[in-house]
Amino acid sequence: MTDNAFEKSPLTLLGLGAMGTALARAWLAAGHPLTVWNRGPGRAEPLAAAGATVAGTAAEAVAASRLVVVCLLDDASVDETLTGIDLAGKDLVDLTTSTPAQARARATWARERGARFLDGGIMAVPPMIGTPGSGAYVFYSGSRALFDAHRAVLAIPAGTSYVGEDAGFAALHDVALLSAMYGMFAGVAHAFALIRKEKIEPTAFAPLLADWLVAMTPSVHATAAQLAEGDYTQGVVSNLAMQVAGSATLLRTAEEQGVSNELLTPYLSLLERLLADGRGNESTTGAVDLLALRAT
Ligand code: NDP
Repeated sequence: MTDNAFEKSPLTLLGLGAMGTALARAWLAAGHPLTVWNRGPGRAEPLAAAGATVAGTAAEAVAASRLVVVCLLDDASVDETLTGIDLAGKDLVDLTTSTPAQARARATWARERGARFLDGGIMAVPPMIGTPGSGAYVFYSGSRALFDAHRAVLAIPAGTSYVGEDAGFAALHDVALLSAMYGMFAGVAHAFALIRKEKIEPTAFAPLLADWLVAMTPSVHATAAQLAEGDYTQGVVSNLAMQVAGSATLLRTAEEQGVSNELLTPYLSLLERLLADGRGNESTTGAVDLLALRAT
């Protein structure tokens, strides 16, 4: 299926929550014939005014287009919505947030019903969707043929990043990035807590903190290079022994400031375990292996 200037490919969208509505508006603005459905009433009317065709049932909506995009609350709502609907010959793109295992199971489920399947992990909030330059993109994984066939229409609301045939990989990439983000949020919360009771304006401190975090981001690439090489002593600037010694100052400062160390200690205790294991000349990369070991 290809787009051209005169005939835009049609598609169906199930789910008109905050994200679904943003997606719908982007496709309508780009001139794609769009059929929409939402479980509850009221959410489709503004889209109908913008040119969408409103289906009375999910089955009608699915029947209307080969490309069916689903953006519902969770995997259980996808199950509830699609169970019993004929999916034979459909290209199903599931933008509902799921775990890797849920996405893999959904891919098998869709294949058993004669549909090609692509899972998506949206790296954006609704106002970024359809906004040029916002940086919004979606991780996709699953059927490469489906992705190639619909790449142009999928690229309308946000950029696309295809990460593999394994349907679980989009969710895995999505969650890995979000998990790192929460680590950053935790560090930011701790930093603001340290200055909370002092005469330091949070708004004056914020640019210092933000710039420092940006300055530290090359460590992501350094960690990746060490993991790829399997050598955690390569290019070490601040070794583990020094960092563990320094961490005592971090912990004592928090105590002096009357701040809980509950966010800091889990990570620092991993570094202490590495040091106790005689790895003081390495970087902090060994923490990755300690965590992965724990998960197995
Ligand atoms: P909303 O809470 O705004 O909307 C949820 C949608 O799911 C509504 O259309 C709702 O229908 C529908 N729904 C819920 N339960 C059921 C069910 N049992 N059967 C049928 N439909 C159901 O969520 P968003 O639109 O914001 O999010 C949709 C997906 O996008 C989620 O998986 C979310 O994680 C993901 N996402 C959202 C982001 C965001 O910032 N909003 C960012 C990245 C991903 P009804 O109107 O009838 O309640």
